[in-house]
Amino acid sequence: MTESVMPTYGRLDITFAKGEGAWLTDTRGERYLDALSGIAVCNLGHCHPAVTRAISEQAATLVHTSNVYHIEKQQLLADKLTQLSGMEQVFFCNSGAEANEAAIKLARKYGHSKGIDKPVIIVMEGSFHGRTMATLTATGNAKVQAGFEPLVPGFVRVPYNDFDAIRMAVSHWPEAVAVLVEPVQGEGGIKVPDSEYLSAIRDLCTQRKLLMMLDEVQTGVGRTGKWFAFQHKQGLVPDVMTLAKGLGNGMPVGACLVAGLAKGVLQAGNHGSTFGGNPLACSAALAVLETIEKEQLLDHVNRLGEQMYQHFKQQLGQTEGVKDVRHLGFMFGIELTVPCADLVKLALQDHILINVTAEKVIRLLPPLVINAQEAEMIVNKVSQLVKTFLASQPIESVA
Ligand SMILES: *Cc1c(COP(=O)(O)O)cnc(C)c1O
Repeated sequence: MTESVMPTYGRLDITFAKGEGAWLTDTRGERYLDALSGIAVCNLGHCHPAVTRAISEQAATLVHTSNVYHIEKQQLLADKLTQLSGMEQVFFCNSGAEANEAAIKLARKYGHSKGIDKPVIIVMEGSFHGRTMATLTATGNAKVQAGFEPLVPGFVRVPYNDFDAIRMAVSHWPEAVAVLVEPVQGEGGIKVPDSEYLSAIRDLCTQRKLLMMLDEVQTGVGRTGKWFAFQHKQGLVPDVMTLAKGLGNGMPVGACLVAGLAKGVLQAGNHGSTFGGNPLACSAALAVLETIEKEQLLDHVNRLGEQMYQHFKQQLGQTEGVKDVRHLGFMFGIELTVPCADLVKLALQDHILINVTAEKVIRLLPPLVINAQEAEMIVNKVSQLVKTFLASQPIESVA
């Protein structure tokens, strides 16, 4: 392996050469079933023809002009996203971290507009918001922060899925301006909060004029069976929502959407991006949204997601060493009682791509386009891998 790439990742020893749908082919010609989608990015599968066509045509027409000018595809994409989400306006960038940076800057500006000089944003334990200085500070994982101190001031952390903790933090911090939270924690271990959690945060934010900021970088764009995960709660609309990952099916594109109190906070000159919302990225995102609609993928994800979950429970529900199986749509978490990072390599040997996060949680984020047969293959292969892995563990560690 070349050493000219900075070694910031612990990579698996494999290189892929091409992909189609839920399948990847490595440089030796071996095929793998992808149950991770490039970490919730290639939601339509690899090289979906509609996205390939949109990118190819746009690449041959106009790639980039900068935000010094109007960009037609960006305006169309903003129209579509606001229509689907009930949000009002969109800022475009290139990644999840950048989308969250925009949200954090917006929250601070909102605070300053209310005369709060040192605004505080309430964030969660176990959260993940990105790797820039502000977003790694917002992230609730000491490993992400270690070595990068001093961190950015202005964040207060509370446990996830604990509404009282938020309420108390808000009472304690008069400088609080926003709550930043994932509707389902992805990196944190596919943690699905109680059904009233988001509504309670919404009500509190409305009462106290705080911004409810949802990081939907992983949960957004169909992943959970709704366009956006907050739509599982009827009538709920956040003030800020961030998107990236699945939005471009692999083309880098991120977005920070605003509504209500958050609208109008960022004005000309307050924020920007050279690449953000360029014609190429927006053409991919437009094709993604059209395809989700045309192929009725939200229904598909709801139906097949529930079926896969039931089958996982049948296969693993009674297995000693399996602590919990959970899901929302096509986000699956299988929590074991033992660390299981080794499962990723075992799965690779079995020609299936999975992920382990939060040490003990097998995370599956399959492409939304998989068929029933591929879904069954994922359930069967992963269940078998888990059983074999647990059987190889010392008994006392599993119990
Ligand atoms: C992946 C992720 C991010 C960071 O996105 P990048 O594109 O890697 O910067 C932020 N928030 C959540 C919830 C994520 O899953």
